[in-house]
Amino acid sequence: RVPESEALPVMPGDAALRHGVLQQSRMEARLREAIRTDGLQMLYQPIVQLPLGKTVGYEALVRWPQEDGRVISPADFIPLAEQTSLILELDAWVLRRSCEQAVEHAGAMRRGYVSVNLSGRQFAQPSAFDLVASTLEATGLPPERLQIELTEGVIMSDPEYAAQLLDRFQALGISIAIDDFGTGYSSLAYLHHFSADVLKLDLSFAREVRRGPNGARIVRAIAAMAEELGLRVVAEGIEAEAEGRQLYKLGCGWGQGYAYGRPVCFSEQAEGGA
Ligand code: C2E
Ligand code: MG
Ligand code: MG
Ligand code: MG
Repeated sequence: RVPESEALPVMPGDAALRHGVLQQSRMEARLREAIRTDGLQMLYQPIVQLPLGKTVGYEALVRWPQEDGRVISPADFIPLAEQTSLILELDAWVLRRSCEQAVEHAGAMRRGYVSVNLSGRQFAQPSAFDLVASTLEATGLPPERLQIELTEGVIMSDPEYAAQLLDRFQALGISIAIDDFGTGYSSLAYLHHFSADVLKLDLSFAREVRRGPNGARIVRAIAAMAEELGLRVVAEGIEAEAEGRQLYKLGCGWGQGYAYGRPVCFSEQAEGGA
């Protein structure tokens, strides 16, 4: 027989690992509580028409404020939530709150649309359509004022299912944006299978354009193809207005980024007159 100590060696770093797991489950419990008690916050970042920068809609971006005043960014808790079914609750909360606020602040929003990120887990649920439809009904937000953002990876992981669900969303009257385009499968040629409306060019492209002519060529080619497919192109991560004008010349009709406004809560949005 193998002595127990050999079968289950205590590896160096095991305590640290256990500590990490413990911390993670604590964070998970606190996040669950935050969702249940409306302890998360939505910020909204303008999406503008290029080249002039007129706001046409807002992307809803979640934040997790802490008691000590720190704010945890979604990059640090969405991946954690995605490991469990917590992401389903989070997405539902975000959708509900974003639609409510879009109704409540319709004036400050100039009746623009609100663009909400949906996780792959939520999208894969048989109840995804009903969640969106019932949230619109409960909040009274007209469907044409809602856009859902899905990454290309989410769509491509089950193309047939995605095509059907996107058709149903289109029939409902909401619009669909393919988020972070260019970071995953990049199968532009495949996009005509999906009823999507918008292609959000990942912010790495704005960075490439800043770097030089190769970036510009790629953006021009993607934008031309998108136009053929009837998709509007939103360039993400525009940090200077000159960049926005350049992206416009390359074929991006819309943009988003710090140059036009950071993500802020609605009270600031109204004051800033964004
Ligand atoms: P995303 O959907 O691609 O969102 C755009 C991210 O780029 C946001 O980061 C935004 O603050 C940031 N950004 C905007 N303009 C600029 C710019 O000019 N320069 C740079 N460097 N960054 C810019 P954020 O808010 O930290 O969100 C990160 C990601 O977390 C999002 O990427 C999205 O994938 C996810 N996420 C955010 N909110 C939600 C949510 O409510 N639900 C879900 N499921 N995911 C969310
Ligand atoms: Mg997004
Ligand atoms: Mg994006
Ligand atoms: Mg992104």
